[in-house]
Amino acid sequence: MASLSDIGTIKDIMRRHGFSFSKGLGQNFLVNPSVCPRMAELGGANENAGVLEIGPGIGVLTAELARRARKVVAVELDERLLPVLEETLAEFTNVRVIHGDALQLDLAEVIRENFAGCESVAVCANLPYYITSPIIMTLLESRLPITSVTVMVQKEAADRICAAVGSRESGALTVAIHYYAHPRLLFKVSAGSFMPPPKVNSAVIRLDILPEPAYDVGNEKIFFAMVKAGFSQRRKTLANSLTSGGFLTKEQAAKALSDSDISPNARIESLDMENLALLSRIISKIS
Ligand code: SAM
Repeated sequence: MASLSDIGTIKDIMRRHGFSFSKGLGQNFLVNPSVCPRMAELGGANENAGVLEIGPGIGVLTAELARRARKVVAVELDERLLPVLEETLAEFTNVRVIHGDALQLDLAEVIRENFAGCESVAVCANLPYYITSPIIMTLLESRLPITSVTVMVQKEAADRICAAVGSRESGALTVAIHYYAHPRLLFKVSAGSFMPPPKVNSAVIRLDILPEPAYDVGNEKIFFAMVKAGFSQRRKTLANSLTSGGFLTKEQAAKALSDSDISPNARIESLDMENLALLSRIISKIS
């Protein structure tokens, strides 16, 4: 099969299959030939590993994963791409394409059913950007038996995800990700590496999933509600932001901050993971 990152090959496939890009599905296909091999290598595709891919497109990354991994399962929402993938991945016997919405599918079951002989399972994907956060959070929150998530995201999202908790660049997503994983930015990818080129630059990040969350937050639901309330009004003092959306009363917020020895005038974005976990443990006890 000719190189799937070659623009002429892509155009030929599109013409023969009557395919046109859907902006709504975040279809920007990789045409920079160096990106997919690098992603596959750094994403943990090896002879003992299974890889779950979300959004294979015409299969450019899928093929690189299949060359290295024991088994690849790729979930694609766009039905029009199924006959394309059948053609482009015909040479591989270790690939299964599943038609479905990665946000709706039971991914735990997909993993259970498909990766029996694999020592570990990794996720590796060039994500549709319109669902970056929900996909990443679904992967992490469902506590899937996966070791890492290596994904292409908007550069801005990569910066937010990899920011230090307690820095101005951090947000609710930063905190949630640091609770479940160790994130790092692997490399940047320019808009010109895609067809059609998106309006933004991109980056590949890798999240190494922690076997257990590294922080005791008391009640997890309260921790995430606290983070949501705090960051929904991030410029306000904690005394105020913790009451947003009715999360705590003014009295509860004052008591929690005093019990945890955190200034009521501090902002949530200045708290590191230790302090966020401490505050959450104390709120878990009083609310
Ligand atoms: N992997 C290909 C590449 O790198 O060239 C395509 C990546 S493109 C950015 C995103 C892909 O995700 C598209 O093929 C799109 O149809 C698919 N997609 C969009 N929403 C999806 C969803 N909810 N579940 C599964 N796939 C989805």
